[in-house]
Amino acid sequence: IGSGIAGLAAAFYMIRDGGMAGKDITILDAMQIEGGSLDGAGNPEDGYIIRGGREMNWNYDNLWDMFQDIQALELPEGYSVLDEYRLVNDNDSNFSKARLMHERGKIRDFSTLGLSRSQQWELIRLMLKRKEDLDDITIEQ
Ligand SMILES: Cc1cc2nc3c(=O)[nH]c(=O)nc-3n(C[C@H](O)[C@H](O)[C@H](O)COP(=O)(O)OP(=O)(O)OC[C@H]3O[C@@H](n4cnc5c(N)ncnc54)[C@H](O)[C@@H]3O)c2cc1C
Repeated sequence: IGSGIAGLAAAFYMIRDGGMAGKDITILDAMQIEGGSLDGAGNPEDGYIIRGGREMNWNYDNLWDMFQDIQALELPEGYSVLDEYRLVNDNDSNFSKARLMHERGKIRDFSTLGLSRSQQWELIRLMLKRKEDLDDITIEQ
């Protein structure tokens, strides 16, 4: 149920790991638009639009796992979507001029999230702790 990435991933794993035939899988979506939050629309003449820029991170292990086993549509046999993704990224690398807009499209710098330098370090130290070190510690502590 749902044609977002979660539904598509479920179908992918049923095919690859469950041995199910793709033709036996039906994806239902309540909306007319396919793709859930990853929807895209448009054509070559007027241009394309997607609701959000897609920033793919190095820690998307499952996504890369899927992409490496899906044949790329526009590349020769044997090239995966992961290969295609790398090629696009190398040849058309993108970056965000702003992560958040505020007050009629003005770019505001939220990079510190209102935290002082020492508070930022405190958070980094917390993130680097081992799980055992955090056992029995409350949020307040
Ligand atoms: C503007 C924007 C920018 C984003 N940027 C990033 C980014 O840079 N990097 C990143 O990793 N993530 C980003 N995200 C988040 C990411 O897009 C979502 O987390 C992800 O797409 C969610 O996938 P999903 O399949 O769980 O849900 P959805 O994509 O929401 O899909 C759920 C689908 O289920 C359908 N559905 C719901 N209920 C029913 C029902 N009862 N019957 C049938 N169909 C139903 C819905 O119509 C929908 O199509 C962004 C999201 C937005 C909106």
